[in-house]
Amino acid sequence: MPNGYMGKILRVNLTDQTFEEQEIPDAVYEKFLSGSGLGGFILYNNIPEDADPLGPDNMLGFVSGLLTGTGSLFSGRWMVCGKSPLTGGYGDANCGGNFSPAIKRSGYDGIFFNGISEKPVFLYIKNGKPELKDAAHLWGMDAIETEKNLIADLTIKRKPKVACIGPAGETLSCISGISNDLGRMAARSGLGAVMGSKKLKAVVLDGAKKIEAFDREEIRTLSRKCNKWVQFQPWFLSGKGLRILAALLRMLPVQTAMDGMLWKIMLRKWGTVALNQYSVELGDAPIKNWSGSNLDFKSDTINPDLIAKNEVSKYHCYSCPLGCGGISRGNFPGGESHKPEYESMLALSGLCLNTDMESVFHMNDRLNRAGMDTISAGGTIAFAIECYERGILTKTDTDGLELRWGNTSAMIALMEKMIIREGIGDILADGVKKAAEKIGKNSAQYAIHAGGQELPMHDGRFDPGFAMHYAVEPTPGRHTIGSQMYYEMFRLWKKDKTLPRPWLIYRKSAKYKTTDKKAMEAAACSKFMNVLNGAGGCAFGAQIGADRFPLFEWLNAATGWNKTPAEYMAIGKRLQALKQAFNLRHGIDPKSAKPALRSVGQPPLTEGANKHRTVNIDKMMTQYWQQFNWDTETGRPSEIPRELGEHSSAG
Ligand code: SF4
Repeated sequence: MPNGYMGKILRVNLTDQTFEEQEIPDAVYEKFLSGSGLGGFILYNNIPEDADPLGPDNMLGFVSGLLTGTGSLFSGRWMVCGKSPLTGGYGDANCGGNFSPAIKRSGYDGIFFNGISEKPVFLYIKNGKPELKDAAHLWGMDAIETEKNLIADLTIKRKPKVACIGPAGETLSCISGISNDLGRMAARSGLGAVMGSKKLKAVVLDGAKKIEAFDREEIRTLSRKCNKWVQFQPWFLSGKGLRILAALLRMLPVQTAMDGMLWKIMLRKWGTVALNQYSVELGDAPIKNWSGSNLDFKSDTINPDLIAKNEVSKYHCYSCPLGCGGISRGNFPGGESHKPEYESMLALSGLCLNTDMESVFHMNDRLNRAGMDTISAGGTIAFAIECYERGILTKTDTDGLELRWGNTSAMIALMEKMIIREGIGDILADGVKKAAEKIGKNSAQYAIHAGGQELPMHDGRFDPGFAMHYAVEPTPGRHTIGSQMYYEMFRLWKKDKTLPRPWLIYRKSAKYKTTDKKAMEAAACSKFMNVLNGAGGCAFGAQIGADRFPLFEWLNAATGWNKTPAEYMAIGKRLQALKQAFNLRHGIDPKSAKPALRSVGQPPLTEGANKHRTVNIDKMMTQYWQQFNWDTETGRPSEIPRELGEHSSAG
């Protein structure tokens, strides 16, 4: 009976250069789904607890989503997973583009690597036949050129799909990612370095296996209904209008619950940069390495209308009717490149007080080519600037660079040093936590991270839900899982009546109260996102609300299961426990992921949109763990390990 998944994975031992197919029992899919769920399950059962993230025992998985290729919308995201060299614990990242269906069309739900190759190689799977091929000619090449070369060399009838690393992954930068579709990046968790440590330059897939689904007609009906919501575009908004709206909202003592339909309209028009100026004005975007406010940065410079002027075409991931991406003109090799998205834009502008937009486009392209995470790179440059401004780093340390706030040319020069690990760039190429340990002199207080991962561009002092998720997620410091605003947009109470419905209008001060209701909402976000990441779904689609984005119904139609939303949320709970159990086994103390004090308003800012705001992060973490019935002192899960086959304890 067709059921949406391929039923097997490919295991590649790079040391022995051998391949092994492994059948995955249906029960595993029913308990863990696919995507990061299946990935987490394989990792948990195969990576020894003392494995060096950059050693042969670590595994690196490329996993497709359960819904990918079934006809469901927004279902083209693939996940990379492994033990993270950045955090030391469970790591994953996901990316759109067209690579996810290529994994399934090669015949597998996932491809997992262990061992280390003696020399650079790439995996090539053509019509279901895997082989490791010499990649010496590609080693040292940037990610976009690597992909172009491989496509030029290996296109016979179809263009193969490629995921690869750039120089940052090769030199084991702990903030490196994996690129596909010419510069889209699975950026977080530093998994590009794991790929580099294995001497694996690329994965090239060219298959045509059919992806089956239980009830394609039902999937089509669900997709048609969802698409009506996606295409709904009732009014015109200008970038300037958004800034005025944000300024008004900032002054009000109350706010309204966010409906994802507004966000969807903004995404369709501008992509994620729609939020740039709006976020700065409201206090959502961190400024000046999280020490400044909206008063320090002229948000006009990142008006989404200005950014849209450079756009030459829209970009859609596989199966996406929305198309938040864009290709922009600029001073790039080849003249065109992926438009910077919200996170990259703010990490390379407001966070460093850089108002030169040309430079942001340039740095975004350079970092994509290098295969380096733009969030972490921006966060690390901001950290270095603050260290310089405070006299912790001197001109001698920086090889003569004047690392001042807003000094664009120094930022670019520093980024180049990080990419090639030259001088100070060598220290910074592994992110802020490791850099602060090497620099010393109390620089750690300016290293803004959670559990080793640089924080993204959403400020917990604006939405404390972000701060909570930065702290409690097994992959800490992630903006893609949950927040108070995300809960409002996910509209999960429409599907699971046990979940609380947020107030339509509420006082802003209520956001900072720590309550069990908020913890319940946060836990629901984590569970839901685990299901979404198991399905290969895009969060931007899900943010139009569970009643308009039929994730659970698509899953039932694809697999033939008949699970209720509550049963899917229970799977999400299991996946959260699995990842937490992985971390505990690998020696990670869940409390150690508490985000940098400055980022939670300790001490609070004295001016700007977030003035006098402090987040009670310790209490929030405890309340969150309580929702999972985990030990509130240690964050240790109790029930999940029994279901994990050969392993019977959390560590
Ligand atoms: S909304 Fe954007 S990120 Fe999501 S699938 Fe569509 S194009 Fe890709």
